[in-house]
Order: sequence, then C-alpha cells, then structure tokens
Amino acid sequence: MFRNKIIKKGITKLCDTLSDEGKLQSWNTLQNKNLTASEYFLLISAFDSIPPEWKNLLKGQLQNPIVNNNISQDAPFPSTSRLLYWNLINKVESPPHVTTQIRRNIPNILPRSVTLDSKTREFQYKFLNRIIYTSKALYKMGIVSSPTCTFCRKSEESLEHLFIYREFSRGFWVSVTLWLKDFFKDLDVLNATNIIFGFFIEDYLLLNHILIICKQVIFQCRNRNIKPSLSLLKVKLKYVYKLECSIAKQKDSLETHQKKWKKLLSFLN
Ligand SMILES: [Zn+2]
Repeated sequence: MFRNKIIKKGITKLCDTLSDEGKLQSWNTLQNKNLTASEYFLLISAFDSIPPEWKNLLKGQLQNPIVNNNISQDAPFPSTSRLLYWNLINKVESPPHVTTQIRRNIPNILPRSVTLDSKTREFQYKFLNRIIYTSKALYKMGIVSSPTCTFCRKSEESLEHLFIYREFSRGFWVSVTLWLKDFFKDLDVLNATNIIFGFFIEDYLLLNHILIICKQVIFQCRNRNIKPSLSLLKVKLKYVYKLECSIAKQKDSLETHQKKWKKLLSFLN
C-alpha cells in the first residue's frame, strides 16, 4: 500500500484487506482497524483496479501464504507514492552508459554545469545519449526512405558524420577553431572527442558551452537544409548570452554569469 496512514493501521499489503475468498473485506470488518470511510473508498478503488488474473494470484496466496514479508511495519516507508515509485525504479534503473562514465569522471562537462539554458542542456543530454534524429536514426524508425546524408547523399548520416566528418561540418569546425583562438589562447585543435564531449578542464566551462552551441547550429542548419557557418554561430552565441543573462538576473547569479563569459565579452558587447 502507498498510504502511510493506512500502513500505520496495520494494512501494508493488499492481502491484508482481503477475505478468505479473495474479496475486499467488509466495511464493518475494516472499521475495527480504525479505517476511515475515505480510506475504505480508497481501498475499494485500489481493489477494483486490480486485473482479474492478479486477484486470482492474491486468492492463491491467501490460501497458501508464503512468508516473504519484504516490508516490515517498522521499516521506514515512503510517505508519498512518488517516493515509492522512485524507490522501486532505483532498483532496476541503469543510467545510459555514456552518462554514467561522464558523471563519474568529469562533472564539469555535464550540460547542467555548463549552462543555465535548459534547451542547450537538453540538446547535449540527447547528443550524449545518441537520441538526435539523424537520417540514419529516422530511417531505422521507418520515418524517412533513406539513411543517407541530407547534404552529400553519399555517406550514411550518422551522428558522427553529421556533426564531425561531413565536409560542411569540417569546414565549420575549422573556421570556429580559428575564431576561438582569439579568445582561448591555448586552444590548439578540436578533435572528435572535444567536439562530442568538450574539454575535461574546469577553466573551459565556457568553451564547452560554446561547443554545444556549435552542435546546435549544425543541427538547426541540417534541419533547414543550409550550411552551418561562423556568422550563424555568432548570432546564436549573442542570443544565448542574453538569455543566460536574464536567467542569471532572476537567480541573482549575475556575477557568476559574467565570470563565465568573461573571455568572450569583447565580442559580445
Ligand atoms: Zn554527408
């Protein structure tokens, strides 16, 4: 059961509410356990929502009780159904492999640390978990007729092809790197790992954020069937900077925001 008040009255499992015939005990019987009328109505609806096969299983269990009481009445029990849900889910949940790896090693490249903008966070999360809809993915889902790249029409449009290896993307990354060198003096080249994950250096919080924005630009251009370009990136950067600025104002963290964007301020203002 998921109601603390009911649990405290000694009803921890559905079986506790059932008669020997597997039916819900009468109001008179349950009233002896100090159950209120509204709690009884709750039990009625819980009982009604159980599929008939489960009711048969419960009946069987009542007739041949198995001593397997996982929930001790003394053990702390979640106070809400949501907590109970997460308790159960945590036992079976396994986070996506990439996320586990990153969470363990380099927290400063996780989207949440890099940006306040929820759309950017969402994009990088999807990217790391490979849930970006490239032609290859859409083809597998039966949504498009071909897995080939929307531009070159030669290679399969995988995540790597679209964001890194395709001719337009390579050109885009070259121009971006050259431009960024003015602001990040020790930046040398961007390799595939940097493009996907960012840099594993704390000082590069802003650069990591910019790399995510670059990928967003590539993806938006892909969807509009245009080439990604440095000028489009610059427009987007200014937009995201202003957006983060207004979020930071609301959160009273303007100082942190300015500190993060410091290296790029000469361009942004
Ligand atoms: Zn291509």
